[in-house]
Amino acid sequence: MSEPMPKIRGPGNEQQSTPVEHGDVREIYEESHHWIVNTGNTTVHAKPVKGRFRRLKNLGWYIWFGYFLTPYIRWDGNQAILFDIPNRQFHLFSITVYPQDIWMLALVLILLAMTLFGVTAVASRVFCGYFCFQTVWTDWFTRVEDWIEGSPQQRRKLDESSWTGEKLRKRAMKYSIWGGIAILTGVSFAAYFTDVYQLWIDIFTLQAPPAAWVTLLLFFLGTFYLAGFLREQVCLWLCPYGRIQGVMLDRDTILPTYDRKRGEPRGKIKSKSEITAAKGDCIDCKLCVAVCPTGVDIREGQQSGCITCGLCIDACDEVMEKVNRPAGLIRYASEKEMDGEHVSSLFRRPRVIIYLAIFILSSLGIVYGLLTIPPIEWHVIHERQPLYTMMSDGSIQNSYVFKVFNKTKQDLVVRIHAEDIAGVELHGVESETILKAEKLIPFTVRLRAVPENLPEQKVPVRFILDTVKGPPMHQENTSFFARP
Ligand code: SF4
Ligand code: SF4
Repeated sequence: MSEPMPKIRGPGNEQQSTPVEHGDVREIYEESHHWIVNTGNTTVHAKPVKGRFRRLKNLGWYIWFGYFLTPYIRWDGNQAILFDIPNRQFHLFSITVYPQDIWMLALVLILLAMTLFGVTAVASRVFCGYFCFQTVWTDWFTRVEDWIEGSPQQRRKLDESSWTGEKLRKRAMKYSIWGGIAILTGVSFAAYFTDVYQLWIDIFTLQAPPAAWVTLLLFFLGTFYLAGFLREQVCLWLCPYGRIQGVMLDRDTILPTYDRKRGEPRGKIKSKSEITAAKGDCIDCKLCVAVCPTGVDIREGQQSGCITCGLCIDACDEVMEKVNRPAGLIRYASEKEMDGEHVSSLFRRPRVIIYLAIFILSSLGIVYGLLTIPPIEWHVIHERQPLYTMMSDGSIQNSYVFKVFNKTKQDLVVRIHAEDIAGVELHGVESETILKAEKLIPFTVRLRAVPENLPEQKVPVRFILDTVKGPPMHQENTSFFARP
C-alpha cells in the first residue's frame, strides 16, 4: 500500500520521516530521520553523500582553487595575468591587450554566454550544480561547518539551542575560518588588478590604496553573507540565471529526474523482502531530500530550486544498492526519455547547433585576434578645417593627424613616407621617428602636391611605415588628398 505524498513543509508544518523501528533496512531510514524540505525559513543542513556526482562536484573545487593561485604565476618576470587599469592594459602571459583590442572582450563575453546557454540546453543547471562560485563557496563553508559543528542533526540542534560556552566556541571558530576564506577571496580578486606580492605587503603595512580596501571589504562581506548565511536561497531567489533558465530548456534537456513509473507506488518497508512487483522501487527513505543542498524533493517533479547537482542520484543509487534494486531510480534523463519517446541526438537540436556555431565563431575570432594583435596601432585622420590650403608656390597642402601607438616593450625607430601621388612631399615628420615603448604619440604631418598630379578632387594616398631599428615591421594606412 502506498504512503500519502509528503506535504511541502510550511511554517509550523515541519516534516520529518518516521524512523522504522526494526528490519534490515533500519539503517537507511535512520540516516534521513531529520529530512526537511526547504521553504526558506530555516537553514538547510544537507547530509554529506559519497558518489560519482559528488566527485564531479569536487572537481569544481579544484578548478576554483586556480582562482586563488593564478595571480602568483609569473611570466617573463611579471604577473602572468594582470588587468593593469592605470596603464589600460591587460596582460595574458606574453600577450598584452590594449583598449584598442577591446572587441575581443565582446567575443569573450559572447563565448561565455553561448557556453552557458549551450550547457543549459543540454543538461540544465549543471553549471550551478558543479561550477558556480556560489555553490562551490557554499560547499566549502558547509564543510567547515560540518567539521566544527558536526552532522546535520547536531547542527540543527545547535541552531535551536541557547547560547552556551560550547556554542560560543564553535561559532567563533566557524566564523573565523569563514572570515579567513572570505578575506582570501577578496585579496585574490584584488590581486588580478595589481601585483599580488606588493598587494600583500601593502595590506600588512596598511599602505594599500583605498580601492583595494573597498574591494576587500565588499568581498569579505559578500562572501561571508552569501556563502555562510544565504546559501541555497541565492540559487532559489536571487540568481537571475536560475530565473531565466526555464526558457533555455526543452524536452530533450537532461536533468535529475525521478522515474515515477518505476518508483511508484512508493512506500516504507521493514525488510528487503517486502519489495515486490506490486510495489514501486522507492522505499520512501527520503535520503534524496536529506542530501539535497537546496532542500528539494525531486520526487515532486522538476523545481526551480534544483541546481542539477546530482547528489540525490548518488544518495538514491546507494539506497538501491542496499535494497538490491538497480541504480537509476533518480537519474539524468530528459522528459522525452521518461515519456518513452525518441530522444533527439545532440546535433539534431537547432538551439544546440546555433549555440555551438556562435561558440566556434567567437573562439576563432578570439584566437585570430590574439595571434594578429598588431605591434603598432596607427590611425591617420585627415584634417577637415581647412580641408586643403593653397600655398604661395601654387602647390596644395593637406594636413593629417597621426596617432601611433607602439604596443611593444621596446623603443622603435620608424620611417614614414607617402605614395600613390606623383611628386607628393611629406612634411612635419622626421626622416627617422622614435616611438617610445608602450606609448601613444599623436603628431600632425602635412602633404604637398602640385595640382597637375591631382586628376580628381579627392585622390587616394597611402602612408607607409617601416621600422629602421627594432623588429622588422611594415604597416600601411590609406587616406585621401583633397584639392579645390
Ligand atoms: S527516491 Fe530513492 S532516495 Fe528518494 S526516497 Fe525514494 S528510495 Fe529513497
Ligand atoms: S534535487 Fe537533486 S539534483 Fe536537484 S539540487 Fe537537490 S540534490 Fe541536487
